[in-house]
Amino acid sequence: MLEGVKKEFCYGCSACATVCPKNSIEMILDEEGFKYPVVDNVKCVGCGLCEKTCPVLQPKSNVSSTVQKAYGVKHNNENVLRTSASGGFFTAISDVILAEGGVIYGAAFDDDMVVRHFRATTALERDRMKGSKYVQSDIGDTYLLIKKDLQDGKKVLFTGTPCQTDGLKRVLQGRTNNLICVDLICHGTPSPLVFADHIKMIEAKTHKRVISYCFRPKKWSWHVHREIAYLSNGKEYHSNAYSDLWRTIYYMKLATKLSCHHCQYSCLNRPGDLTMGDCRGIDAVCPGFGSDEGVSLVLVNTPTGVEYFEKVRSAMKVIELSIDDVMQPPLREPSKQSGNRMKFMSVYRNKGYMSAVHACLGKLYYLKYNVKKLLNKN
Ligand SMILES: Cc1cc2nc3c(=O)[nH]c(=O)nc-3n(C[C@H](O)[C@H](O)[C@H](O)COP(=O)(O)OP(=O)(O)OC[C@H]3O[C@@H](n4cnc5c(N)ncnc54)[C@H](O)[C@@H]3O)c2cc1C
Ligand code: SF4
Ligand code: SF4
Ligand code: SF4
Repeated sequence: MLEGVKKEFCYGCSACATVCPKNSIEMILDEEGFKYPVVDNVKCVGCGLCEKTCPVLQPKSNVSSTVQKAYGVKHNNENVLRTSASGGFFTAISDVILAEGGVIYGAAFDDDMVVRHFRATTALERDRMKGSKYVQSDIGDTYLLIKKDLQDGKKVLFTGTPCQTDGLKRVLQGRTNNLICVDLICHGTPSPLVFADHIKMIEAKTHKRVISYCFRPKKWSWHVHREIAYLSNGKEYHSNAYSDLWRTIYYMKLATKLSCHHCQYSCLNRPGDLTMGDCRGIDAVCPGFGSDEGVSLVLVNTPTGVEYFEKVRSAMKVIELSIDDVMQPPLREPSKQSGNRMKFMSVYRNKGYMSAVHACLGKLYYLKYNVKKLLNKN
């Protein structure tokens, strides 16, 4: 770790490793499945650049902007709406950037079902980024690729968690001309290693490979939270206690990164020009605008955000909202750490995924799930 940064506060944003002029910082996976910086003291020349860049050591530098306007939006195209996490704002804004000859960065699955940040220059490549993945995305060398794109005069749209967005802006040190950042309303990212074991559990149950995964499909309704694993035989695996397990782990914050509980971005000061999230309160505020297909909440934070929101407007149905009406917990304060988080991770490390599930959710989890399902009749 960097001196002065406690592990439980480190966002794992990779900004320190990216700026080090001696390549003396490596992001190394720990046993919970999160990457943290490890400094090679032999190579380090003590220049201090990593510490000047780190958001933990230099909180709230000059990259934050405060929300100016809030909107509920729905993409005009029903197919886009159906295949997006909420109202399809990401597709709308990325279409504008692609039409201007720009490049898009966002999170998608690789061939091994690992969530990583990718670069896209076509709508087809961009479409892989659609859908919320409730797991930390590996940022890899994204900041350097973006730096190069900007140096080459390209327009760049970056989408990601607020800590990744801030990490990028710190690496660029103000050279953000032609960069448009959209951060997510975010209440935490779980461990990629634990998620990989969740996928292995489904593969063992079905004797098939999982080739894709939807954390929040709209097959039933935007308001129903189930998950679907897409299998190599073309079938879907869903609607049972095993397939919906990740949702439970996510909501109970059993495998969430520790820094999410100290997150400095859980507020209205945003690192992005725009912020996108789920417009969950819309039914109460504006009955009729909400739908089973989902509505995105868009916060407009900077003059660049205003400029791009105006360019995107015609692709969507838009309603202006008061920020007070659509406030949600991740815009107020960091999520509280679950009392069972340490137990889950300790059992996970020593005995594996299903033992951790049984230790924290109880041996009767599956029975309870089925009784609840029967009572809810869904
Ligand atoms: C881990 C996580 C937690 C979230 N928590 C909340 C919340 O508490 N409240 C809320 O209102 N909204 C939350 N969201 C945002 C919300 O689920 C939608 O992503 C948002 O509404 C955008 O919808 P869309 O239809 O425009 O996106 P889509 O068209 O579906 O595009 C998804 C976008 O999210 C990005 N993305 C997906 N997964 C990740 C990831 N793991 N890391 C970084 N970027 C990713 C993609 O790059 C893409 O830009 C969360 C998203 C994630 C990934
Ligand atoms: S002090 Fe300088 S050389 Fe040492 S790890 Fe930090 S950035 Fe690298
Ligand atoms: S720059 Fe990011 S990864 Fe490096 S120590 Fe700070 S928070 Fe952690
Ligand atoms: S909650 Fe905060 S620290 Fe955790 S992933 Fe989201 S932005 Fe990063």
